[in-house]
Amino acid sequence: MKFFSLVLGLLLSVLAFAGPPSNEPVPRRIWITDVTILSPENLGHLDRGSVLIENERIVRVERKASAEPPADATVVSGEGGFLIPGLIDSHVHLASVPGVAPELNLNPDAAHAPMLADYYKQLPRSYLYFGYTTLIDLAVVKREVLDDFRHAPLHPDVYDCGPSLPIANGYPMSFVPPAQRFQLFPNFLYDPAQSASIPPEYKPQDHTPAASVAADKRAGAICVKTYFERGFGQQRNLPVITPAMAAAVRNAATQNGLVMMMHANSFEAQQFAVDADVDVIAHGMWNWGALDRQPELPPEIKTLLERIVQTRTGYQATIQVLGGLRAYFDPEYLKMPAIPHVIPAALITWFNSPEGKWFRKEIDEDNTPDAEMREGFDAGPIRRVRQVVGYLAVRNANFLFGTDTPSAPTYGNLPGLNGYLEMQQLHDAGLSLEQVFKAATINNAREFKLDSQVGSIEPGKIANLVLLRKSPLESVDAYDNIVTVWVHGRPTSRDSLAATPSK
Ligand SMILES: [Zn+2]
Repeated sequence: MKFFSLVLGLLLSVLAFAGPPSNEPVPRRIWITDVTILSPENLGHLDRGSVLIENERIVRVERKASAEPPADATVVSGEGGFLIPGLIDSHVHLASVPGVAPELNLNPDAAHAPMLADYYKQLPRSYLYFGYTTLIDLAVVKREVLDDFRHAPLHPDVYDCGPSLPIANGYPMSFVPPAQRFQLFPNFLYDPAQSASIPPEYKPQDHTPAASVAADKRAGAICVKTYFERGFGQQRNLPVITPAMAAAVRNAATQNGLVMMMHANSFEAQQFAVDADVDVIAHGMWNWGALDRQPELPPEIKTLLERIVQTRTGYQATIQVLGGLRAYFDPEYLKMPAIPHVIPAALITWFNSPEGKWFRKEIDEDNTPDAEMREGFDAGPIRRVRQVVGYLAVRNANFLFGTDTPSAPTYGNLPGLNGYLEMQQLHDAGLSLEQVFKAATINNAREFKLDSQVGSIEPGKIANLVLLRKSPLESVDAYDNIVTVWVHGRPTSRDSLAATPSK
């Protein structure tokens, strides 16, 4: 069994798609009224009120029921619902298709190409369907996929970390055949100890931490992604970034104003990440190494978690990385009623076919019974990450909402829906509903320096808003009770975002 996040968005197809242009005129001024305004910086005042949008910005926030609408505004009644800022998922991989092998995605044959094209066309809408209006892609491997996403008629805002910075031949480069891996990871870090296994056209001076971080900056990145991962399964004992390299990345990231992120899901890796003074740890800690079988949090892990709290290191728990693998052993998973709303019918049919379940064998070569596999996840890595997250929640660590969708070629991480499942995981692990809400709004906005634009309902910010029937401070399922999503001031009903509309 391989309990780990596998190849991240590696080998991807270039599928051009363009939907019809959105011609519907949007009123210049919209007055959203009869709503409870839930904005993360002001949760002490949960008053009925109104919000005025002008073009694509929020221009006025009235926290009293009696405020009069401006004469020339179109009035939209929220009918007593709850208005929240658009949600932010700060860890996605837009080019990877859930459940689809990277090789197939890279070279789709005639039988699969339409299914993949449909998926990419629906992708921006699926994130919006669950209220996500801002996404951060952590590892750009095919710039064209992001460009197409940004040209879709209706889509979340997307920021990215540019091509990521693995150490030469380390994770996740190691999953790509040697002939292609250097092209797919052009900002890899040169390791002089490996000069014999790096093609001669790649010069050490072009792959220093400073050069690779500068390349990300030039490409418009807002963050840099590094890795500390010794590997798993067939890919063990991989080279890892050295403390000196990490310090140089840290220095270059600071100079360029970029957020430094590190893939780290083990005790050893998160210790390395904190020592390296990273801004964000991109996973929860489910791998405790020699301490894996300890039933309670070991003291040495608690000590590290205290440092994560004190340094305010951003923490993306990504529990659904594990939930997404476990899904292959849960006969109920593909029956979830939300799936037809985020995934086109042809791809769901394929998920249910024997061919569409190929990844199950990758997770479990021995054909272990489902119940035993579920128990393995629940008693092993899921238990450990929950203990870690619960400990951090009590101490109010700096949680950042990030799902790692999809974290592997698994159909257990579907766009939009996976965010909703991750929220449930976080709440079950001990985060309060307020912590979940802040992680997915203002915490992400501040960490990634987007808070002048998004993350709260305040005048001057982009009018990315979500109207809910229920309060997300009372139950997680409020996030699945969405009425309307505003993207840059343009309202769209939730039903019209679905891949297959509800009956
Ligand atoms: Zn990831």
